[in-house]
Amino acid sequence: MQYISTRNKDRQHSAAQAIVQGLAQDGGLLTPVYIPKLPRRALEDLKNMSYQQRAVYVMKLFLDEFSVKELTDYANAAYSLEKFDTPAVAPVHRLDRETHCLELWHGPTCAFKDMALQMLPHLLTGSLTKLEEDKTVCILVATSGDTGKGALEGFRDVSRTRILVFYPKDGVSQVQQLQMVTQEGGNVSVCAVVGNFDDAQSGVKQIFSDEELRVELAKRGYFFSSANSINWGRVLPQLVYYVSAYCDLLRDGEIESGQPINVCVPTGNFGNILAAYYAREMGVPIARLICASNQNNVLTDFLRTGIYNRGRTFYQTCSPSMDILISSNLERLLMSLTQSDQEVRDYMKLLNQQGSYQVSARLLEKMQRLFSGYYCDDQQTKRVIGRIYSQFDYLIDPHTAVAFDALDQYRQETGDTTTALVVSTASPFKFCDSVLEGLGIPPRGDGLDLLDALSERTGMHVPAPLAGLRDKKVRFEQVVEKDCMADAVRKLLE
Ligand SMILES: *Cc1c(COP(=O)(O)O)cnc(C)c1O
Repeated sequence: MQYISTRNKDRQHSAAQAIVQGLAQDGGLLTPVYIPKLPRRALEDLKNMSYQQRAVYVMKLFLDEFSVKELTDYANAAYSLEKFDTPAVAPVHRLDRETHCLELWHGPTCAFKDMALQMLPHLLTGSLTKLEEDKTVCILVATSGDTGKGALEGFRDVSRTRILVFYPKDGVSQVQQLQMVTQEGGNVSVCAVVGNFDDAQSGVKQIFSDEELRVELAKRGYFFSSANSINWGRVLPQLVYYVSAYCDLLRDGEIESGQPINVCVPTGNFGNILAAYYAREMGVPIARLICASNQNNVLTDFLRTGIYNRGRTFYQTCSPSMDILISSNLERLLMSLTQSDQEVRDYMKLLNQQGSYQVSARLLEKMQRLFSGYYCDDQQTKRVIGRIYSQFDYLIDPHTAVAFDALDQYRQETGDTTTALVVSTASPFKFCDSVLEGLGIPPRGDGLDLLDALSERTGMHVPAPLAGLRDKKVRFEQVVEKDCMADAVRKLLE
């Protein structure tokens, strides 16, 4: 399988090159030339396999340079019982006959980023070996919370890697901050930036394009790469859980072979729902893809009008991992639906220069045949948390609640009762304050007290990685001004 940039079809890259490089030189996203189809009966065969075996099967179709033995070693290490608190890895929870929830937060950081960030380090170091690259890869991450911790946990003590995470000083939740500053491992560093998430992200982007720094660090044996969801090595492991969830529903007799399901995904950077689209392309019987947004509803508008306009107010919501105005991975969908690098290049140029673009009527029609978009605000999000808890005795986090609300709106608007799979992206314990409010309890005290309050109210256990935070030592207290991030990198790599 070869990989091309969404902005230039002519240059092909191997999978290893795509994973090591992260982003194409022209600014486009490296993407498989085509999406392979699952062989007939594959889903029936996979039905009785473990999550790890399903992962090997799906990933192998995209990574011919990797042997089944290599991928098996990676999958067993990434999705072991040491890392995930259930052997199912990504279990499907039944609410009623037509409604099921795919739980993606059983990993070491309690958010869905683990599904890919536990696998990426193996794919990346395997790729380094194949390319005979002897430098150490330095992973730079700007995070609004979940990605930073997920990447730290994935890359900790992985040989030939070094990881530096920058987070906005006052822009992450208390639990998220504690998760990062107490991170263990010999190759990790964490640094607060005075500013917001955009400042941290611009700083990291600047470092990536700083030629002087690149040369200086190359002399010291380092090169930079990204663990962001623009990296194909992060999208690919996400295809697996859609295949796996369909197999679980088949195995458990919830659906019959070939029966279509709808999938509803809480969406920020469009990485998770893009993986669902690719799974559909592979032949998983997915009918409709429902894209759920919070008040930052740029995707809802786009799917309805064909106009993508980032020039709008940015809201801080109680589902912060979806507070995003530029959904990077959308570019891969545009490429897949148009098959025209020229058309994608034109749209992205308009987005950069004018802050908006309008897709052709043909493309809009194609998108609307596949996707529906809905959004809700914080008040509604909390109401949904309360409703799902009282109706089904099932506790969900605010991101997942946004998805449940989108599914409600879709069902009301269309009357479509197709079996739905709602994707649950974080443990409710990561966002205790909003969840408690949703249950009608005013949150009192700081982040860690709230863990106990939520546990007492619901009788659910606090997930071990969060309960353990209380006894962890703070290792990283460094704070940098946003203009001094490059210097911080120099010092940290000394
Ligand atoms: C990152 C994240 C999302 C958004 O996923 P995308 O792939 O960026 O669309 C949703 N929920 C949670 C909890 C996340 O951490």
